[in-house]
Amino acid sequence: NREWHLLSRPVGWPKPEDFALVEAPVPTPGEGQVLVRNEYLSVDPYMRGRMSAAKSYVAPFELGKVMQGGAVGEVVESRAEGISAGDHVLHFSGWREYAAVDAKNAVKVDPEAAPLSTYLGVLGMTGLTAYAGLLRTASFKEGDTVFVSGAAGAVGSQVGQIAKLKGASRVIGSAGSDEKVKLLVDEYGFDAAFNYKSGPVAEQLREAAPDGIDVYFDNVGGDHLEAAIGSLNQGGRIAVCGMISVYNNTEPAPGPRNLARLIQTRGRIEGFLVGDHYDLQPQFVQEVGPWVASGALKYRETVVEGIENNLEAFLGVLRGDNIGKMVVKL
Ligand code: NDP
Repeated sequence: NREWHLLSRPVGWPKPEDFALVEAPVPTPGEGQVLVRNEYLSVDPYMRGRMSAAKSYVAPFELGKVMQGGAVGEVVESRAEGISAGDHVLHFSGWREYAAVDAKNAVKVDPEAAPLSTYLGVLGMTGLTAYAGLLRTASFKEGDTVFVSGAAGAVGSQVGQIAKLKGASRVIGSAGSDEKVKLLVDEYGFDAAFNYKSGPVAEQLREAAPDGIDVYFDNVGGDHLEAAIGSLNQGGRIAVCGMISVYNNTEPAPGPRNLARLIQTRGRIEGFLVGDHYDLQPQFVQEVGPWVASGALKYRETVVEGIENNLEAFLGVLRGDNIGKMVVKL
């Protein structure tokens, strides 16, 4: 049983020396627990925050201990009622091959209903993030023009497609490569997309959305946020989901210089955490599940193989190596 430990708190970009892949005994499940052989591990941008000591909405990872994260796997031994060996569960003890998990923290998932990895992505946490952030936080309504950054990623690709499926008049995405930009338009049906690395975001956004935007779903922060405020229409709404452009900063990033535009546009900017919106989970599964099953909503995954590549996969998410949800297959 191998597991990833955090050895020191990264300053700036995480370095391999900050981590170690450690050999540990397979845990013995206690009363009320199940032993899970993990099959897919999630790597997510928010994990960067947990590597720091700063107080946040989840506790920092502990130094010298195994890290955590979303995972799905097969129950190999059960000491809990309602879950049997052979069942598959979604749980939070990732970054390791075997986990003893409290049954109350494990959710049964059906590998026949959907591929196991999708419970971490398009039908899981990142999917619900897109759904809740767009529909609830950004108060999306039919006819809106929507701009989403990180648009080829797990959350962003779903935001754009949900907006289209629910009647957006125009959807614009930004991403970090021409290949990703092409995918947004050709495969996901975005009306326009641009590569934020090939010119100023504000200019490219103005070109892509000549009549302005009603919703901005922010995954990136920085100049993307300033550009979105600059293009915001009357009554525009900005849902702050993430700001990946600042996660490895060692100094606070400057804020948008044009916040005063929120006054004349009566604009609203609001952050949210998916953890506060699990009441939407049944509605999300009911509405988005059939779109995924029918192919109306498309998704990609970037699958990295092997526990030994778990760290590289995580760093790859920060670098933008992924298209869609990045997962590690064991
Ligand atoms: P993604 O699949 O979108 O992967 C992250 C992507 O960010 C990369 O692929 C990369 O794509 C892009 N990126 C990296 N650095 C930069 C940069 N400097 N500027 C612009 N883009 C950059 O990850 P997720 O879908 O899991 O997460 C997307 C966002 O949502 C993150 O900010 C995350 O923290 C946030 N999040 C928030 C939640 C909440 O509850 N509020 C829950 C889940 C996620 P590219 O090639 O385009 O640069």
